[in-house]
Amino acid sequence: MGYLISNVHILTMNKTMDAYPDGAILIEGDRILRVAERSALAGEAKNQNHRVIDGRGAIAVPGFINAHTHSGMIPFRSLGDDCADRLRRFLLPLENRAMTGELASLSALYACAEMLLAGISCFVDMYYFEDTLAAAVKASGIRAFLGQTVMGEPVCDSREPYGGLLLGERFIQKWQGDELITPMIAPHATNTNSPEKIREAAALAARYDVPITMHVSEMDYEMEYFRRAYGMTPIGFLDSLGVLSPRFIAAHSIHSTPEDIRILARRGAAVAHCIGANTKSAKGVAPVKEMLEAGVKVALGTDGPASGNTLDLFTQFSLFAKFHKTAHRDRILFPASAILQLATSGAAAALGIEDQVGSIEPGKKADITLVETESVNMFPCFDPYSVLVYSATAANTDTVFVNGRLLVRGKKLTGLSLPDIRRNLDEAMGIFRREATAI
Ligand SMILES: [Zn+2]
Repeated sequence: MGYLISNVHILTMNKTMDAYPDGAILIEGDRILRVAERSALAGEAKNQNHRVIDGRGAIAVPGFINAHTHSGMIPFRSLGDDCADRLRRFLLPLENRAMTGELASLSALYACAEMLLAGISCFVDMYYFEDTLAAAVKASGIRAFLGQTVMGEPVCDSREPYGGLLLGERFIQKWQGDELITPMIAPHATNTNSPEKIREAAALAARYDVPITMHVSEMDYEMEYFRRAYGMTPIGFLDSLGVLSPRFIAAHSIHSTPEDIRILARRGAAVAHCIGANTKSAKGVAPVKEMLEAGVKVALGTDGPASGNTLDLFTQFSLFAKFHKTAHRDRILFPASAILQLATSGAAAALGIEDQVGSIEPGKKADITLVETESVNMFPCFDPYSVLVYSATAANTDTVFVNGRLLVRGKKLTGLSLPDIRRNLDEAMGIFRREATAI
C-alpha cells in the first residue's frame, strides 16, 4: 500500500532546488519512491494499487521542521505576554505550582495537532515529564526530537536540582531507536546549570550519541553574568567546557559575536533561530546572515506557545524576511527560497538528519506537506516560494504526510479529534487556571 500524490507543484528543496510545476510523488511504505512529472507517473496508481491524492492547485514541500519549542506549555499561551520579566513572574512559578505530567502530555498532544495542521512534520522540544509527553507525541504520528530539561533548582518533575540528568538518561535508554522519537538531553540554559552539570549533560549526549539542546545567548543578564564571572561570552564559555559539537543545537544565540560565530562554525554546532519570540520580547535579531556565511547550520523555531504564541513556521517566514531585510537595509537579502530552506533542507542538516528528511527525493522518508492555493490570500501564484513565505498562513495547509502516513487531509487531522484534544486539555487545566489568575 502506498500513495500517489498527483497534480501538484513540487518544490523538492533538494541541492539543485529542482521543481516540478505539474508533478507527482509516489510513496511506498514510509519512503518516497519516485518524484517526477505527472505524466511519467500516470500509470503507477493502477499498477501498484496506490491511493491517489489529488493535489490540484497545491504546492508540495518537504514537511517543515520546527527546531525549537516547548510543547508542554500550551496552558501558558496569552498569559502575561506584555509583562516585564514574564519568565520569573509567570512561567517558572506556575510551572512549579501547577505543571503535572498529565497536563504536559495533554498539552503536547494539542501542540502536535497544531503543528501538523501547520504543515510541520518534525519538531525539537525541550520540556519536563518528557517520558510521559513522548507517549502523546508518538500517538500523534509526528516526528520529534524530545529533550528532558535539566536545571539547577527544584522543578516540576524533580525536587532534586539536576534531577533531569537521571530522568534524561532513563528517557534516552527507553526511547532510543524509536522510528519517530529521537530522545535527547536539554540543559535549560547556560546560566541555570553549573559548568560541571553542563559537562555531564554533554557527556551523556556523547555516550548515547544523541543530540543536546540548550538556550544560549538569549538574555541580556546572561551575557552580563558571563562577562563579569568569566570574561567570556556564553558561547566562548561553552567552548571552554568542550561541550560544543555537531550534536549541539543552540536555541536563540541572539547575542552572538563574530568570534562566537567562528566557534559555532568550527565545532559544527547548529542554531535554532526564533525570530518571532526574540522580537516579541524585544531581545534582538540574531546575526543569521553572518552565521550562514561562516557555515553555521541554522534552522527556524517557534519557541514555546508562551513565547512565540503560534506554533507555525509561516509566521516565522514572514517575520524572518522582514526583520533580517530591515536589519541589513537590503531587500534582496534572503529570498523566499532561502528562507524555506531554513525550515526544510537546512533544518534537516542542522539536526543531522539530512539523509532522512528535508527534501522531496527518492529514498527519503515521506514527510510531505501540501499547501493549497485556492484560498483568497493565495491568488495569483507567480512564484510558489514567494507565496509560501509572504502570503500563506498555517490555515492554507491542506495535507500532511509523516513517515508515509497521511496525518492531515482537507485541513483536518485524519486520526485524532481536535475537539477532544482541546476539551481534555481544558478540563485538566483547573488548578493551573486558578494559580494563573491568582498571579
Ligand atoms: Zn525556548
